[in-house]
Amino acid sequence: MAKKYSKTKLNVFKDSIEKRMEEIANDMDDLHDEILDNGSSSGALSQESVYSVHMADAGTDSFEQEKNYNLMSRESDYYKNLEIALERIDDGSFGMCNICEDLIPEERMMEVPNATKCVKCKEKDKLGLI
Ligand SMILES: [Zn+2]
Repeated sequence: MAKKYSKTKLNVFKDSIEKRMEEIANDMDDLHDEILDNGSSSGALSQESVYSVHMADAGTDSFEQEKNYNLMSRESDYYKNLEIALERIDDGSFGMCNICEDLIPEERMMEVPNATKCVKCKEKDKLGLI
């Protein structure tokens, strides 16, 4: 029979996942504001740069902008992964390796809540042995 985490343990995971989702949602709100802010300030800057060439500044601005966008998409990917992890808690497949059906260690599940393979199977998978 496949091993499973106890209900109590699952609740601990759930709490930590939900907390992280909340943090990410807040972060994304901040990033969103920042992107909007940058958008308007770079608009003002480009007006100015017509007169005095501040190309370096403008470059930094769009770099910042791009960095924020990248961060946003990474955070939203992570958010989706956490959502998937919550679904797995609900359907009972959380923490179980879908290859050897062993229990994935707690530390790994805390780090990667949407993990579906134990480290051993993941390594084998990488080497193409599965
Ligand atoms: Zn495994």
